[in-house]
Amino acid sequence: MSSSSSASSRLTNRRSVYGVPSRCWCGRNLVTYAAQTKDNPFRRFYRCAVALQRQTEEHLFKWIEEALVDETIMVERKHLSLVDEVKELRGKMVEKLELEERMIRKMVDERVKEELEEVKAKMKEEMMMAAETLQKMAREMAKTSMQKVGITLLVVGTIACICGKLMG
Ligand SMILES: [Zn+2]
Repeated sequence: MSSSSSASSRLTNRRSVYGVPSRCWCGRNLVTYAAQTKDNPFRRFYRCAVALQRQTEEHLFKWIEEALVDETIMVERKHLSLVDEVKELRGKMVEKLELEERMIRKMVDERVKEELEEVKAKMKEEMMMAAETLQKMAREMAKTSMQKVGITLLVVGTIACICGKLMG
C-alpha cells in the first residue's frame, strides 16, 4: 500500500519536471546516481543527496535518458518555433518592402504629375504671352497701316488739292 502510493507520487513528480533539471525542489544541487533495482539495473537518474536519506520526503526524481529525450524535444520545438519566427519575419519584411515600394512609386507618380502640371501651366502662360504679343503686334501693324493709309490719303488729298489749285 505504502510502496504503491510512493511509486505513484514518484510518477507524478517525474512528470512535473521537464527537461534536464538544474536543482531539486529543496534547493540542493542534483547528483546523478545509478539505480540498483532489478527493474532498472544501472539506469541513471537525478536526485539530491538528501533524498536518499529521507525517502518519505518529496524530492526531485528524473531518469537521465528521459531528461535528455525531453531536452531533445525542447530543442526541436525551439528550432521549429525559430523557423516559424524567421518565416514570419521574412513575411513581415517583404510586406514592409512592398509597402515602401508602393509609397515610393506613389510619391514618384505624384511628383511626375506635379511636374507635368507645372510644365503645362508654364506652357500655357508662355502661349498666352505669345498670343498677347502677337495681338499687340497685329494692333501695331494695323495702326501703322492705318497711319500709312492716313498718310496716303493725306498725300493724295494734298496732291489733289495742289492739282486743283494748279488746274483752277
Ligand atoms: Zn531535494
